[in-house]
Amino acid sequence: MAGPVETFDIIVVGAGPVGLAFAASLARSRLKVAVVERQSLDSLANPAFDGREIALTHASVRILRELGAWDAIPASDKSPLHGARVLNGSSPFSLSFDGPSGSGEPLGFLVPNCQIRDALFKIVYFQDHARLLCGNSVVNATNSEDEAVITLSDGRQLAARLLVAADSRLSAMRDLLGIGANIHPLGHSMLICRVRHERFHHQIAVEWFDHHQTIAMLPLMGGVSSLLLTLRSSEADRLFALDDELFLMELMNRCRGRLGEMTLASTRHAYPLVTTWAHKFSAPSAALIGDAAIGMHPVTAHGFNIGLSGQKQLAHKILTACRARRDIADPDMLGRYESRLRLSAAPLYHATNMLVGLYSSEHPAARLARHAGLRFAQHLPFVRHGISAMLRR
Ligand SMILES: Cc1cc2nc3c(=O)[nH]c(=O)nc-3n(C[C@H](O)[C@H](O)[C@H](O)COP(=O)(O)OP(=O)(O)OC[C@H]3O[C@@H](n4cnc5c(N)ncnc54)[C@H](O)[C@@H]3O)c2cc1C
Repeated sequence: MAGPVETFDIIVVGAGPVGLAFAASLARSRLKVAVVERQSLDSLANPAFDGREIALTHASVRILRELGAWDAIPASDKSPLHGARVLNGSSPFSLSFDGPSGSGEPLGFLVPNCQIRDALFKIVYFQDHARLLCGNSVVNATNSEDEAVITLSDGRQLAARLLVAADSRLSAMRDLLGIGANIHPLGHSMLICRVRHERFHHQIAVEWFDHHQTIAMLPLMGGVSSLLLTLRSSEADRLFALDDELFLMELMNRCRGRLGEMTLASTRHAYPLVTTWAHKFSAPSAALIGDAAIGMHPVTAHGFNIGLSGQKQLAHKILTACRARRDIADPDMLGRYESRLRLSAAPLYHATNMLVGLYSSEHPAARLARHAGLRFAQHLPFVRHGISAMLRR
């Protein structure tokens, strides 16, 4: 038989980087927060390397700094990104993005996802107002204008004025709230590993749209790069099944000597690519944040940046309501959160999907269009400077 219902002000489902950042953002309130996570406490406290090196904009660095997470990340794990080059097939031409000349200011920083998670976990773990309920998923939920009630896999029931889903792009919480989503499995997977290599990367990232593959080389500290190879999923599965030696040989062939001799410097990881856009980002007594709301294609490296900024907007609205002794789940307030996030994220989401369509097509017209597109952009300084400035904002 179910025990008594435990009551909170806010329940966050999912202790990924966005869910944790949201819980940390509420620290200055007296709100009673529960964070429900299906992974064990031990896995959360010691997040394993998952291959992802998150390219953070300056705005994201500022948010992490405000939360106290940025300084908790070791300096050796913050790789500055001084520029980026976009290549098309075997053409020697590249579209360049650089920081402002002479300032030495990077475009952004690459930080392992596990380090971001670790820093945010420690903040939430030591907060008095937040309670972590690990090793649990949500099996049932009801929501009304007055409250949301969830049932955990261990049978416990929790109620809150506001329920926040932060449980990834294939969010079960979103489904339980009855919110639909445009979910696009792309039929491609991204293989990721760190490699140590012969040639210097000069802290410049390379995004190379080649025939039937896309390779990104992200420059890390200490002569190491993170290599991201996007292929049709069947081809990615074949490559992933190879032993390390054969895998590396094929990787070097595919990179055509761009980084010189390479050795593996980490475990390998595979991500089948899926994009999602939830039909709504709010419901009575509920809201979606992070990938549960918007799951971006990683090619433009903006999923977490958008999630971090979105959680900040929602937390700010809640803290303002709290100070004014207003309802923290006021439907108008949640509606404003939704509209602002939709407006700010839609252009990048759709532009990214168009770019992916153009650059993964082998149609001769698409090849011609991407070649022309890169040259066109190179001759429009305001386009390049605009993108660089957006990253540094
Ligand atoms: C290969 C790759 C590279 C990327 N690179 C970048 C980049 O450079 N820059 C960038 O900004 N973004 C990048 N992203 C996107 C970024 O990783 C995501 O946007 C970010 O992880 C989203 O965080 P989240 O907390 O919303 O979700 P997640 O990281 O997916 O975390 C969700 C959490 O919810 C938990 N959970 C799931 N289901 C349940 C459940 N039913 N009950 C309880 N808990 C549950 C999970 O265990 C997990 O802890 C990349 C993504 C990929 C795949």
